[in-house]
Amino acid sequence: MQGHFPSIIFIMSKTKYIFVTGGVTSSLGKGIISSSIAKLLVARGFSVTIQKLDPYINIDPGTLNPYEHGECFVTEDGAETDLDLGHYERFSNVPTSQANNVTTGVIYQSVITKERKGEYLGETVQVIPHITDEIKYRIKLLANRKDYDFIITEIGGTVGDIESLPFIEAVRQLRWELGRDCVVVHLTLVPYLAAAGELKTKPTQHSVKTLLESGVQPDIIVCRTERHLSEGIRNKIALFCNVSPTSVIESIDAESIYDVPILMREENLDIEILKKTKMPCDQEPDLVDWEQFLYTMKHPSSEVNIGLVGKYVELKDAYKSINESFIHAGASNGVRVKIQTFHSEFLDDSNVAEKLGRLDGILVAPGFGERGIEGKIAAIRYAREQKIPFFGICLGMQCAVIEFGRNVLGLTGAHSTEFNKLTPNPVIDMMEMQKKISGLGGTMRLGSYPCKLMSDSPICEIYRQQENITERHRHRYEFNNEYLEVYRKAGMRPVGMNEKDNLVEIIELTGHPWFFGVQFHPEYKSTVARPHPLFVSFVKAAKEYADR
Ligand code: GLN
Repeated sequence: MQGHFPSIIFIMSKTKYIFVTGGVTSSLGKGIISSSIAKLLVARGFSVTIQKLDPYINIDPGTLNPYEHGECFVTEDGAETDLDLGHYERFSNVPTSQANNVTTGVIYQSVITKERKGEYLGETVQVIPHITDEIKYRIKLLANRKDYDFIITEIGGTVGDIESLPFIEAVRQLRWELGRDCVVVHLTLVPYLAAAGELKTKPTQHSVKTLLESGVQPDIIVCRTERHLSEGIRNKIALFCNVSPTSVIESIDAESIYDVPILMREENLDIEILKKTKMPCDQEPDLVDWEQFLYTMKHPSSEVNIGLVGKYVELKDAYKSINESFIHAGASNGVRVKIQTFHSEFLDDSNVAEKLGRLDGILVAPGFGERGIEGKIAAIRYAREQKIPFFGICLGMQCAVIEFGRNVLGLTGAHSTEFNKLTPNPVIDMMEMQKKISGLGGTMRLGSYPCKLMSDSPICEIYRQQENITERHRHRYEFNNEYLEVYRKAGMRPVGMNEKDNLVEIIELTGHPWFFGVQFHPEYKSTVARPHPLFVSFVKAAKEYADR
C-alpha cells in the first residue's frame, strides 16, 4: 500500500524515536517517565521533543471539564493540550506546541477532511492504512520542524484498550520502518501482595503479551513498584518478556516526581536507550543544577502558607501547573510552600478572616463560569485590606478588578459581562475581536502574546529589568479600558500592557506590599531550570510577610 505522505524523507533522517506505552493500569506515570527520559537526554546535550497521543475523540482537552481531565495546559502557539505537556516542559525546559499533542479526534478529522476533498482518489478509507498513516505522519511531523536527535512519543491509555489499538498498530509499523532508530519503552506495574509478602510479575507478563499480540515487542520494561526489584524478579521479567535483565528498569515510588530523572539515571534507563539506538553514551549527563534544585527543595529553611482559592480545589490535577510553579519558586527561595486550598463557593465576608487569617499569601485561581465568584471577591477584599500578599491569575485578576470597583470605587454593580450581561459597570468585558466569534471550542485568546512592562513599577524588577516579555493566555474577557483612568487614580494601575491591542495584562495595587493581577497564565512557563519570576517574587513576599 502506498502511503499518503512522503514518509520516505523522514525515514532517512537520523532522528531516533522513543515510544512509551503503558500496561496493567492507568496513572502509572508515563508522562513522568517520558519527561525523565527527555531530561536525561537533554542533560547529555541531545535535542529532544516529546509528544502525547491521546486516544479520546475530543479534538483537544480545551472543552473538557477539569473534573474529567485535570488542567488544560496551553502551549506557546496557543494549543490547549493534555497536562502531561506541562511536565514535559517543566522537566526538559523545551517548549512544546500544537503538534506535540494529537488526539484520535484530530486524526479522524484530518482523514475525513481529506476524504471529502477527494484526496484518497476513490479508495475505501480504512483504519489501516489511512488512520495509521495519519498517526505515523503526525508522529514524524515534529522531525520536519527541527533536526531532533530524539522524538519521544507517549501513547495515552493502557495497552489492550480498544481505543488505543490504532496507535499501537502505528508503532508496530513504524518500528518495522525505522529499525534500530526506534525503541519501545513499556511501563508496567509490579504490585506487592502483602498477604503473599511478594512482588508479583504476572501483570507485567500479561501486559507484555497484550503488546505482543499487537506485534510490538518492547525493548525496555520500566516497572513501577513500591519495593525494590530483586535480581531474581528482574531476571524473571526478562525471561518472560524477551528482554535482557539490564533492560528491566525499576521505577520505585518516589518522594517527588522530580526525583524520577535521578532514579532513572541510577537505573541506567538513558544508557539502555542510547545503546539500543546506537547513540554515543560516553559522557555523563549534566545534572548539577537539577540536583541542586532537589537539594534546596528538600532542605527548606522555613515554610510559607499560601492559600489557593478556586472552585476545583478538591481535584488533584486541576491546578497542576500552579502547584508545580510553587515548588520551583519555593526551591528558588529556599522555603517550602505549603498550599492550603479553599473552595471559593464556601467563602464570604463573614468567614474570610477565620479561614484565611493565618496565611502568608493568597492566590486566586483562573476559572470559567459564575460559581464561586463571590467567594473569590471576598478573599481578595480580605487580602487587599489586610495587606496580605495577593496574586490573581486570569479570572483571579478579573475578580480583583471587580472587587476594587465595588468596594473602593463605589461601583456597586461592578461585574464581568461573563457573569452579568446587563451590569451597569462592566469593568471586565469581552474583547471586540472575541465578540465576533461564536461557539465555545477554540474561540479564546490563546497562547503567547507580548506585554510591555511599565519601567516605574516593581514589576520590572520582578522580571529582572526586562521591559518586553511574552506570556501565555487562555481567556475571552478583558479589563474594560473605559474604566482605566478611574482605577489608575484610585491606586489600581495597569503596569503591563499589550500595546498592539491596547489590552491590560498586569494590574498592581499601589500602597500594598505585593498585590498583582495578571490576565495571562504565568504558571504555564515555570520550569525547574527557569522558575517563573512572578511566583518567585510572590513566594519571597509571602516569606517576608511570614517573618514579620
Ligand atoms: N473566564 C475568564 C475569561 O474567559 C477567565 C479565564 C481564565 O481564568 N483562564 O476571560
